[in-house]
This record gives sequence, structure tokens and C-alpha cells, in this order.
Amino acid sequence: MDSTFVFYSIFIILVVEYVLATALNYLNAKKFKDPIPKDLEDVYNTEEYNKSQAYKLTNYKFGILTSTFSLALILGFLILGGFKWVDQIALNTSDHPIVQALIFFGIILLGSDIINIPFTYYQTFVIEEKFGFNKTSHRTFILDKLKQWTLTILVGGGVLALVIWFFQTVGTNFWWYTWVAIALFTLFINLFYSKLIVPLFNKQEPLEAGSLKEKIEHYAANVGFDLQHIFVINGSKRSTKANAYFSGFGKEKRVTLYDTLINDLDEDEIVAVLAHEVGHYKRKHIIFNLFSSILLTGLMLFLLSLFINNPEISLAIGVDRPSFHAALIGFGILYSPVSELTGLLMNYFSRKFEYQADDYAKETYAALPLVTSLKKLSKNSLSNLTPHPAYVFMNYSHPPLIDRIRNLKA
Ligand SMILES: [Zn+2]
Repeated sequence: MDSTFVFYSIFIILVVEYVLATALNYLNAKKFKDPIPKDLEDVYNTEEYNKSQAYKLTNYKFGILTSTFSLALILGFLILGGFKWVDQIALNTSDHPIVQALIFFGIILLGSDIINIPFTYYQTFVIEEKFGFNKTSHRTFILDKLKQWTLTILVGGGVLALVIWFFQTVGTNFWWYTWVAIALFTLFINLFYSKLIVPLFNKQEPLEAGSLKEKIEHYAANVGFDLQHIFVINGSKRSTKANAYFSGFGKEKRVTLYDTLINDLDEDEIVAVLAHEVGHYKRKHIIFNLFSSILLTGLMLFLLSLFINNPEISLAIGVDRPSFHAALIGFGILYSPVSELTGLLMNYFSRKFEYQADDYAKETYAALPLVTSLKKLSKNSLSNLTPHPAYVFMNYSHPPLIDRIRNLKA
């Protein structure tokens, strides 16, 4: 393996991934104007349908712009010696490899996030605003960024420092030391995500007393799910789009309903959505996802341990003094086809799990309120009712609306 070969591999991976993603987006966009399936004809009226068409097209064009910009940025950085330049700054600041790595990644990650701010700003305050979704204030936007950066610096920096320390201490065995540490950390974050991370960004409250709570109480008692684990979050702080999710396990498990979901749906529909979320828990999807993500981390770290001592990887990204941090960037790109494949597999399972959770809601509650809730949620988020099957196969974590409704009605 020489560094020119690695350089071209990196170059080709970046370009091929871009071409594939763009081609899929193009195929998907060609189906925007397809006739709406019969079962979904009542989702949109004419005005809403036209609005959904405009929304899809706007996001499609904007997506091409951002992905083209990202590709140009990383190729430019690679070819013009950007990584070497950042490595020099890190070298000139400290003699310690851990500090050098923290500075190197700090500049690259925070730098690329700052460069992308105009795009995220435009997405939120121009596109989402124009279609009536945006509720984010400028203050929230700025505070979110600062909180995300602080978390990245503390958590990302901590993990990076630990990995390099392992590498210095036990050599290539570092991969399974790191694996154990990250697995424990993943378990911890999964358990306490709702208590530690969510409150930084949102307010969560238990369900208010009233007829909805009574209905939910009744359902929860039927299936043996503790009502204390159901919370309402102020999603309306950022967007009118509605959502619900399950997190944690054991004593820390909980279903979180967005306040926007409670506003948009009637009580039976809310219970049906809740039943779907409880289904994810009862069918053990939460545990499956947790353990597969730990396994995939192990795979990545093992492959990293095979590559990390090759100076050619540092040289390939233009850094003439091989280091752990430079090799890590090169490996990150070389690994991305593998993570595309594992992502594909995870999406496949996720779509299976959506059917299982829908079935659970159908068996323990009712199919019809889930059908009408899914239609309302799709209408309110102007979602695409005619996605391309190849696009669904590659990118969708949930089956298309039409397939879920057919399954619920079966
Ligand atoms: Zn689900």
C-alpha cells in the first residue's frame, strides 16, 4: 500500500458516494409528481398538495447545493494541503500528542460546523420559515449551537483523549480497551439520555391530568406499562413538526410525546402513537439497536487497529508527519463505504421494526386511529407520499406511509 494509492482511494470514495447520493435524489425527485396512491388520496387537499410539491422541490435543490459544497470543500482541503496546515498549527501549539490531536480535530470539526452555519441558518430561517414550520428563535439557534459545541468538546474530546492514551499505553490492543469504554459509555448515555442530555435543550413534563391521561392510563394498565414513564416535551420550541420516541431501558425507560403531537392529534390517535412506541419496547427493538450499535463500534475499532500504524494513511491526506489523528481522519473516509453498508442494514431492520410496532399497536389498541394519525402527521410535515423504492431502500428508517397503512389495514 503506498500513499498515492490511498490518496486516490479516498478521492474515489468521496466522489462515488456523492454521485450515488445525487443519483438517488434525482430518481426520487422524478417521482415527486406521480399520482398519489388510492389509500392516500385524502391526505392532502389541492392547496396542501401544491405546497408539499413546492416543499419537496425546495429541499431537493437545497440538498444538491449543500452536498456539492461539502464535496468541493473536502476535496479542496485534501488537494490544497488543508490537513497539513491544520497539523502544523497543532504541532506549533503543543508537544503532547493528545493535545495536538484535540487541537487538530477541534479546528477541523468546529471549523466545518462554522462554515456550514449559513446553510443550517438558511434551512431553518428561510425554507422551514417559508413553509410555516419554523418556531426557532435566533436566540435558541445560537444557544443550541453553543450547547452542541460544548458537548462535542467535552464528550468528543474526552473520548479522543482516552483512545490516544490507550494507543500510547497498549499499542494496537487499544481497539478493544476503547471498545469496552465506549460500550459502557453508550449504555450510560442510553440510560440517562432523557435526564442528562434532553434537559439541556428542552423542557419535559409528566402528562397533565385530564381525559387524555385517563385514556393513556387505561391503555398503559392493559399492556403493563408504567404511566410514570410517559413525558411531554416542548418540541414546539423549534418546529411545528410532531414526533414521539422511546428511550432508555429498565427503570429509566420512557416514552416522550411532543407537545405538537398532542396538539395535532385527537386522543385516540395519541394513544395509538403511544401504543406504537410501547411496541418498540415490548418487541425488544431498543435493546437490539443498542447492542448492534455497540457491535458496529467494535467492528470499526478493530478495522481501525489494522490501519492505524500505516504511515501511508497520514501521507495520503497530505500530512507528512504520520500521527494517530491524521490517520484517524484518513481512516474515517476509507471506512465510510463500510458504514454506508451497515447503515443500510440498520435501516432495513428499522423498517421491519416499524411494521412490528404498528402491529403491536393494532393488536393491543386499534389500527384505525394509527392510520389517521400517520396521515395527519404526514400532512402536517408535507411529507413525500411517492418516494422512489431505491431511495427508500437506501435512506428510509421508516417504511413509506402507503406501505404502513396497507399493513395496518391488512
Ligand atoms: Zn416507530
